Amino acid sequence: MDNSGVAAILSKMALLLEFKGENPFKAKAYERAARNIRGLGEDIGEMYRRDRLSEIPGVGGAIREKVREILDTGTFKAYERTAAEVPPGIFGILDIPGIGPKTAKLLYEKLDIRSVDGLLKAAIEHRIRRLSRMGPKQEEKILRSVQRYQSSGEPGRTPLATADPITEEIKEQLRAFPFIKKVIAAGSIRRRKETVKDIDLIALSDVPAKAMDGFLHLQKVTEVIEEGNTLSSVLYDNKIRVDLRIVPEESFGTLLQHFTGSKEHNIHLRKLALEKGYKLNEYGFTDIATNVIKRCAEEKQVYDHLGLEFPVPELREDRGEIEAGMQKRLPKLIEVEDIKGDLHVHSNWSDGEDSIEDLALSALERGYEYIAITDHSHSTAIAGGLSEKRLLEHTKAVSSIDEKFEGIRLLSGTECDIRPGGKLDYSDRVLQELDIVIAAVHAGLDQDRKTMTKRIVSALENEHVDILAHPTGRKFGKREAYDVDMEKVLQAALDNDKAIEINSSPSRLDLNDINAGMARKMGVWLAINTDTHRLDNFNNIRYGIDVARRAWIEPQDVVNTRHIKDFVSLFRIE
Ligand SMILES: [Zn+2]
Ligand SMILES: [Zn+2]
Repeated sequence: MDNSGVAAILSKMALLLEFKGENPFKAKAYERAARNIRGLGEDIGEMYRRDRLSEIPGVGGAIREKVREILDTGTFKAYERTAAEVPPGIFGILDIPGIGPKTAKLLYEKLDIRSVDGLLKAAIEHRIRRLSRMGPKQEEKILRSVQRYQSSGEPGRTPLATADPITEEIKEQLRAFPFIKKVIAAGSIRRRKETVKDIDLIALSDVPAKAMDGFLHLQKVTEVIEEGNTLSSVLYDNKIRVDLRIVPEESFGTLLQHFTGSKEHNIHLRKLALEKGYKLNEYGFTDIATNVIKRCAEEKQVYDHLGLEFPVPELREDRGEIEAGMQKRLPKLIEVEDIKGDLHVHSNWSDGEDSIEDLALSALERGYEYIAITDHSHSTAIAGGLSEKRLLEHTKAVSSIDEKFEGIRLLSGTECDIRPGGKLDYSDRVLQELDIVIAAVHAGLDQDRKTMTKRIVSALENEHVDILAHPTGRKFGKREAYDVDMEKVLQAALDNDKAIEINSSPSRLDLNDINAGMARKMGVWLAINTDTHRLDNFNNIRYGIDVARRAWIEPQDVVNTRHIKDFVSLFRIE
């Protein structure tokens, strides 16, 4: 077990003791020990073997015994005993950022709240505000915390697009301090995972105490969760946990690599190191024969040392990147700059906010060579879907505006509904007039797997369809993907020479990295689009590219990396 594993059990013990209302000094002692172990500059297992546990501040007497027990057995008896006395649902409540053990205890004792669902119900029924020490404001805060916790897809996780600007804001403030030399986000943010649990920051500083103090006093810090010399954690803006580690310059690379993860990637890397005679952990490579430790200032040195080609963080999920790195055959991943046009754009003809002219201008400023204006079809009446007659007017408008613009080609298009029976919303006679036809499912989402798969496949068999948009229909915090056999859909796309979309809208990211990877492996064309409804939505392309990179996608796998000339010939557009 590593330092963070040991620290996690001790922290949980502290929470449980506080929840049970036991001697507060006892809880504080566990928390202090956990903090010091987390911020330790050495591997705790190694210290145990060398009988040096007593050197760790706060790990004396009774707690030292517990640490030994954890390192020997993975847990400790007193913890197991205490945990068994608490309703299991309480652990979920203690997991919600912004709800501490004292509040959880009060809610449990006064309202018998034993689970996250029970907590949500009590908040909605306004039972919490009636408690002493509570009020409408506190109740509202709890309600928001629970909803955020539940709606972030996986409980306790925040969508990348929400975490990104927060990370930038914090980094900017930290960089403004003269005593912070460098700060970089590690963890799942750096790997560009679609949701993140917390924000892990790693920094270099000549005056760590000052750096920590500056961090703890950032304006939007709502709660200090942990405070230490080398590691502190806060709840930021009541939204997300942020950890800051100050690390020594000589092992910056080793630590950055370690805290970027993923866990699976690191486990595989450690196995490889062992085969080569090294023990690898967050502090460096220990040569097993000589006990000499090698630390890396640059992250690349970690991979060099193992004879591996450097994998960008997005690839580090142990999905074959280590094997490919050994053979120096890692992919040359797609980048934002490779995108030459956007094929899924809504104007104010349907539910977009902007005129076709403004969209064209904005795309031109981005350096795009083409965009397709793909307003909704008439079934999606809520989104102002166009009748066949209006669509033909729309097409005319697009081509007359296109004539006014130099340097960008406006393609006429539609986002055409696939009706529940599999028929498209427009007749073939109308569809054949358009440059780009996107087909999409927007209603009748509760069909069974067989029906839904058949419905989508029949749309892909239509000769006028070019792209299938947001193929699984999932929306973060709103609804799960509908039930569909993705392999069959991809096979139909391949057989009919259609492209499948990676929709970059942060609430969709659909296809996700796994499905996009499957499409790539099968050799299906991909299109990375933003589904823009407002000018600044064009910026979301970044998130679609993140998904694509995690799926090992290269520029040539994607249709809209083509320059206009190649693009129109690929899609047989006149
Ligand atoms: Zn759509
Ligand atoms: Zn759309």
